[in-house]
Amino acid sequence: MLKRPCPWAFVFFNNIAIAARHAQARHGAERIAIVDFDVHHGNGTQEIFWADPSVLYASTHEMPLYPGTGATRETGEHNSIVNAPLRAGDGGAQFRDAMQSVILPRLQAMRPDLILISAGFDAHRRDPLANLNLTEADFAWITGKLLDLANSSAQGRLVSLLEGGYDLEGLSASVAEHVAMLMSAY
Ligand SMILES: [Zn+2]
Repeated sequence: MLKRPCPWAFVFFNNIAIAARHAQARHGAERIAIVDFDVHHGNGTQEIFWADPSVLYASTHEMPLYPGTGATRETGEHNSIVNAPLRAGDGGAQFRDAMQSVILPRLQAMRPDLILISAGFDAHRRDPLANLNLTEADFAWITGKLLDLANSSAQGRLVSLLEGGYDLEGLSASVAEHVAMLMSAY
């Protein structure tokens, strides 16, 4: 764990942490779930909320891979960190199983009043920075699952923030499916 605040390679400001804190400070959100399916582990987000039981941080990511964090045993001081690492070569079946068996039950138990998505699309099979084999259909599937949860516990409140994605064809196709699913909720 990084012990003092300093920016790493990809970001200077943690948008999703700022959004969570803003929702709590200005909009009365009490329990927030951050679901992070970017292929890289969100080490900054995990560290920010490591000791905060009001924010559940749940991540699928390739491991081992940069930045090296995100092991299952990293659970936070109040068991509000949920890591479900995937292996190089894993695809939609393993991703959906990790979500179904590890992450979504924790969201159902928490009943968040806001769901935030760290929507990185670099787990796509075309992405050059990683070695997972997700497709647009997998991103659409998890988007639908999270919408269902938002509708059941959070009055439909869900905000998605774009994170990584380094193959423009895979990224654009995935974002299109993701946004189409989000729009289908309205
Ligand atoms: Zn990434």
